[in-house]
Amino acid sequence: MTAVEEVTGRYDPVIGLETHVELGTASKMFCGCSTTFGAEPNTQTCPVCLGLPGSLPVANVMAIESTIRIGLALHCDIASWCRFARKNYFYPDMPKDFQISQYDEPLCTDGHLDVQVDGKTVRVEIERVHLEEDTGKSLHVGGATGRIHGADHSLVDYNRAGIPLVEIVTRPVPGTGALAPDVGRAYVTELRELLRTLGVSDVRMEQGSLRCDVNVSLSPAGSGVWGTRSETKNVNSLRSVERAIRFEMGRQAAVLDSGGRVVQETRHFHEDTGVTTPGRSKEEATDYRYFPEPDLVPLAPDAGWVQRLRAGLPELPAARRARLAAELGASDFEMDSMANAGVVDLVAETAAAGAPAAEARNWWLGYLSQKANAAGVEAAELAITPAQVARVVALVADGTLSTGLARQAVEGVLETGADVDAVVAERGLVRVSDVDALSAAVDEAIAAQPDVAEKVRGGKVAAAGALVGAVMKATRGQADAEVVRGLVLSRLT
Ligand SMILES: [Zn+2]
Repeated sequence: MTAVEEVTGRYDPVIGLETHVELGTASKMFCGCSTTFGAEPNTQTCPVCLGLPGSLPVANVMAIESTIRIGLALHCDIASWCRFARKNYFYPDMPKDFQISQYDEPLCTDGHLDVQVDGKTVRVEIERVHLEEDTGKSLHVGGATGRIHGADHSLVDYNRAGIPLVEIVTRPVPGTGALAPDVGRAYVTELRELLRTLGVSDVRMEQGSLRCDVNVSLSPAGSGVWGTRSETKNVNSLRSVERAIRFEMGRQAAVLDSGGRVVQETRHFHEDTGVTTPGRSKEEATDYRYFPEPDLVPLAPDAGWVQRLRAGLPELPAARRARLAAELGASDFEMDSMANAGVVDLVAETAAAGAPAAEARNWWLGYLSQKANAAGVEAAELAITPAQVARVVALVADGTLSTGLARQAVEGVLETGADVDAVVAERGLVRVSDVDALSAAVDEAIAAQPDVAEKVRGGKVAAAGALVGAVMKATRGQADAEVVRGLVLSRLT
């Protein structure tokens, strides 16, 4: 039993995820400043995003379109009229002392995203998708942890302040039991794929353009009474989402087991140790004094605009997977295996280049995945194209290459980057099935292993395999194994 299963014997976990996505617009949410990542600190600012007196925001239409498209892809209702709101709080990386966000009037509401976990479909309901602006970034200098505590001084970079940020909030997801950590990870994985397909963000978790707050609570098994939740902030990898949920389940179970109570608070996840530690306590929650943003007109997307955006949505990941599964004749299990190995597109392209789907799948899931693992790279990074794999499959099908020779050909392409036919010609990878050419090698193999030959003569036909193997080795895999087998048996039986 795993630690998580041990917990779910006594408690039902409920998870919830809030995901922040930096949109990939060229300019910021309310001004014309560039959004390029990695520029010199404070070189991409202006009076609007610095909140200087007298400056006025203007909403970025591309950001609004992207948000509506995200909402449509998540099956949300799109508001026909809504407003931005001021969220008032003081923080050094927020130059205006308030953030323009959306509060009780989000742009998109009531959607869902289905994820596959352990062969089951789990529907994650989306409560809201709203648009806001990102904050700047503080850098704490000195001290060991990079946190403000123990630092000598702090620096602030406002390049990120005002970049359009979409927040996607799920409803609480109950009933996942021991799969809760996997459901959390699968949801963020699927959401990232969806956002990438929409082309609205570069979704780079390691650069912070996609980041996740993970809510976890436990309730006594079967009670139906939801427990107090913790909120782990800014988890920035798929694996960390899973680990943070797992850790919180174990931590909260230990608190409840000892008769304590879980405190509602924000927590930080530590990548190096896999644990969460407390941050702000929500019991002394800030009053953000929200009110409608007076410097912006209401947002009222008309039905025709929304309809055009809906019509322009690309094929979404779930639909695409279903189509490819049908085209490739692949089962759910096979599609999962291909997705986990990152070879769905490669198999589809190899099949499109003429290889039978089953052959394409065998190559990419088998030999080529092994090669990628051994080299520590993704299968897509291997120096062989789907068209080249399809060519190898064709040479096997027409009898030019045996399976062993085909592997040698693939090996040659990976090593040299040369084309399949060039590798085959250069290395002399030709299947030898000519009886005269093979006879001498068969005689040598029999002479070298007289005891094996005796067994075959005595009726143990299976022993002939050792002699066939010796001939294959002597001919560097080029002999036609069936012809060799026939020759061996004709001599000894
Ligand atoms: Zn600006």
